[in-house]
Amino acid sequence: MLDQLGEKCGVFGVFAPGEDVARLTFFGLHALQHRGQESAGIATTDGKRMHLYAEMGLVSQVFMEETLSTLPGHAAIGHTRYSTTGASIQCNAQPFVVRGAHGELAIAHNGNVVNADVMRADLAATGVTFETTTDTEVLGRLLVETAGETWDERFATLMRRANGAYSLTLLTKDALFGVRDPLGIRPLCIGRLNGSGWVFASETCALDHLGADFVREVEPGEVVRIDAEGMHSSFPVGETLPMGEVVREALCLFEFIYFARPDSRLGGELLHPVRMRMGARLWGEHPVEADIVIGVPDSATAAAIGFAQASGIPYAEGLVKNRYVGRTFIQPDQRLRERGVRLKFNPLREILQGKRVVVVDDSIVRGTTTPRVVEMIRRAGATEVHMRITSPPIQYPCFYGVDMATRGELIAANESVEEIRQHIDADSLGYLSLEGTVSATGQIAGNQCTACFSGQYPAAVPLQFDKFALGGEGAPDHNIPVAPPEPATSPLTVRA
Ligand code: AMP
Repeated sequence: MLDQLGEKCGVFGVFAPGEDVARLTFFGLHALQHRGQESAGIATTDGKRMHLYAEMGLVSQVFMEETLSTLPGHAAIGHTRYSTTGASIQCNAQPFVVRGAHGELAIAHNGNVVNADVMRADLAATGVTFETTTDTEVLGRLLVETAGETWDERFATLMRRANGAYSLTLLTKDALFGVRDPLGIRPLCIGRLNGSGWVFASETCALDHLGADFVREVEPGEVVRIDAEGMHSSFPVGETLPMGEVVREALCLFEFIYFARPDSRLGGELLHPVRMRMGARLWGEHPVEADIVIGVPDSATAAAIGFAQASGIPYAEGLVKNRYVGRTFIQPDQRLRERGVRLKFNPLREILQGKRVVVVDDSIVRGTTTPRVVEMIRRAGATEVHMRITSPPIQYPCFYGVDMATRGELIAANESVEEIRQHIDADSLGYLSLEGTVSATGQIAGNQCTACFSGQYPAAVPLQFDKFALGGEGAPDHNIPVAPPEPATSPLTVRA
């Protein structure tokens, strides 16, 4: 099987003749750093040649003044990557540059294509050779090798063949493309720079930092091309998906809950108030008597404020985050992850001592961090710890780009809410319902991918991936839908 790369990443693109596009991309990637801290890369074109620099590390570690000056041109794409264990090798850093019958193409990918190995085998059978084991290279090679006079025809082939999530920025010597898969699982937006340039970014916060104006989101199934003549839009597969389904939006709900920055907009909604609404609903669904409400910083701060406002329980800062440690999940090794919690948070004893504390967090995935956070708060003197989570229990693995863990590692796939409460040693535990989570987003219900909570995948998941998910042997067949698993029946709040 191919490495599961191109996961939860940040992608960026800029077309701005006369501007320092590499530097603009550097700043864009910097704003998207929270989407991936493992590698960073920029590709530029000067109209004749493609220039590329990609390395392991944070954006500010990878790019120095000297490196940026080796990246001339009028257009650029960039990528910041997050990956799973074992996949962190340098040759997988993006953007990836491919050359083929249709010329040279740089590609940056956020998402995960679940049938990439089948696509790769088909391409290999026609004589195409590969340098990496990534799904991103498969998409790039398909685009430069497949039959088709125009880019639209080739994108149509890609969209008909690829099953999964792909928000892409692509660069040829004279055009920049922004593409979203027909389900729009990962975000991608368009901005206008200084009235003449164009920008693509995974999140709107990158536009804000560059002083670019938000134009709109790239639509599911849309190819947006920017060249010397301006912006052109097309929908190469119209209304039909690879498996024959009708195009519908299935933007990842977890982007609203956790991934995207609170100052980004998704589906027209600023995420900070969305998360405050999640917190307020959480109070409505799982009220509790307590003295203070704290959030696990930074991702749950807005939700904690919302919970406090709705409940009338005072909001306080009980944990201070050491901002420069990075996300604990980033460390692929479990021991490092455990130490990471202490490196990441410091409790404020004077605030917590003698208090009944509501702790709001956005999610429990493996259940490794949360017990340590609870323990830390108790050691600082809290008399009660009531955990409130602004999402439903995560019971199913993500095949579309979130490194959440396999099914065996997901605590809620294996334990009831009461068992999880015991595991994390909280006095009570309450999860926000799926309905409550979706309604707080302000989006039309049914337009999100809720697979990790509901088991309802928006497109067929190959058995081969399900084998991975279930930890069993599975069959080698591809593109066979798995039966939707049974929904959770356990109540979503429990008390000790
Ligand atoms: P755990 O108790 O080990 O499941 O960790 C829960 C914490 O991990 C919460 O504070 C979440 O904000 C955070 N979290 C959830 N998903 C991810 C992810 N994919 N990457 C990094 N952190 C995450």
